[in-house]
Amino acid sequence: MAELETLYRQVILDHNRQPRNFRRLAAPCGCTDGINALCGDRLRVCVRMDDEQITEVAFEGSGCAISMASASMMTEAVAGRTREQANAIGEAVTSLLAGRRTDTLPDPLGALAAVREFPSRVKCATLAWEALRGALAGEHAAITTEDDLQQQNRI
Ligand code: ZN
Repeated sequence: MAELETLYRQVILDHNRQPRNFRRLAAPCGCTDGINALCGDRLRVCVRMDDEQITEVAFEGSGCAISMASASMMTEAVAGRTREQANAIGEAVTSLLAGRRTDTLPDPLGALAAVREFPSRVKCATLAWEALRGALAGEHAAITTEDDLQQQNRI
């Protein structure tokens, strides 16, 4: 298990060092900003669609290693997929990080499981996926984790 955790960490660090599809997308069909105020992560995820298929997906912005790596892995995982498939993968990632499922995701997304060890960082990992969902819906509004935080603080 320790070896697996080391591998997971290496995957995350690699994607953070060399983020894939980290660029501005020309003529996007949808762009959504994800803002995680708690950590200071600000990402913009943009998609270009051909009917229901994602032909291109890219992100820009800045954030911690976990948010950048998760966004990088997200772009590779959903490019070429349909909107429905991409949303299903996003839901699986969110469930995994929320601890609602224990089965593994296809590599390299399984590496995100390592983030469960750091509950305060889960939002860093889900940010790009939430922004993707908005971009796929054609939304241009920003999503922010602040509402969630305020709710948590009230409890
Ligand atoms: Zn973060």
